[in-house]
Amino acid sequence: MKNIKNYNLDELKQELISLGEKPYRAEQIFKWLYIDKVIEFDEMTNLSLELREKLKQNYTMCNFKILKKQEAQDGTKKYLFDVLDGNAIETVLMEYHHGKTICVSSQIGCKMGCKFCASTGIAFIRNLEPGEIVEQILAVEQDIGEHISNIVFMGIGEPFDNYDNVMQAIHIINNQKGLNIGARHISISTSGIVPKIYEFADEKLQCTLSISLHATNNQKRSEMMPVNNAYPLEELMKACKEYIKKTNKRISFEYALAKDNNDNLEDAKALVKLLSGMLCHVNLIPINKIENGKFTKSSNENIIKFRDYLNEHGIVATIRRELGSDIDAACGQLRRKNL
Ligand code: SAH
Repeated sequence: MKNIKNYNLDELKQELISLGEKPYRAEQIFKWLYIDKVIEFDEMTNLSLELREKLKQNYTMCNFKILKKQEAQDGTKKYLFDVLDGNAIETVLMEYHHGKTICVSSQIGCKMGCKFCASTGIAFIRNLEPGEIVEQILAVEQDIGEHISNIVFMGIGEPFDNYDNVMQAIHIINNQKGLNIGARHISISTSGIVPKIYEFADEKLQCTLSISLHATNNQKRSEMMPVNNAYPLEELMKACKEYIKKTNKRISFEYALAKDNNDNLEDAKALVKLLSGMLCHVNLIPINKIENGKFTKSSNENIIKFRDYLNEHGIVATIRRELGSDIDAACGQLRRKNL
């Protein structure tokens, strides 16, 4: 059976037509799914019993079960969801002054192999379907009874390795007749899959693109991120410049600071050189410790020095707040689980 949350509104209209129904029914269903957030077709009370029966026979609603919920001291919540096929993924809810943000997963596991990230430690299983990405938002909203204002594709997985499903999820999340979360409130982070950066530039979406940079030369970056062997820094930076030129949008470069690895003054100087003149922002992430990880966090003093050096040399840099690290919900700490 097909997951009804995989369809955008136009496709759902086509589905309804093929069931012999009027297309406006799709809008009613969309409203039930994404505004009223019902979990049963029988709750869609303005549809005839006959249509509800047809829907039940043809589609699932893919309601995730919460297997575990943890709350950190700072209010960050981490959910472990049963994705209904024997696998489980994590989703995080964070509170910022401007509203609530959900960090969604895009894959069950990850192929990228970044040495500092727990998401990649265990085998890659499969891509998440668009509806399974959307369901993470619905399940959290149902749980807290509140509306989410921002989405970041920064959970488990590499969004640009599941490009089509992630784009479809964004179209569903965006729709004004549904969740209505504007593209400006959506960020996507990639480890640097270069061809997809070019493709993304052509989508004409207002989402923020984040690039996991973490190092300023190929040797160091390849040691930290094997994806750099396939798409080295020169190609990555060329794609980023092209993206900025095409979209006129600022790129956010993520740089996780690891002690004695990429956090000294020489690294800061090299970063200024690499990014100077680009429409960008640097988001410094104090690296989070993971099991068996060889990297440790830079000292607070070093992190502040690094930020100040960038700011004094024309690169806007901020330090990402560390949220949820006491429950392993911070950047790089999410993992898929076996049931
Ligand atoms: N695969 C995508 C999405 C992950 S987003 C990507 O690589 O961009 C999560 C962000 O946290 C990325 O910038 C990632 O490099 C970073 N990250 C991973 N492990 C981390 C860790 N242990 N500490 C801090 N940041 C980490």
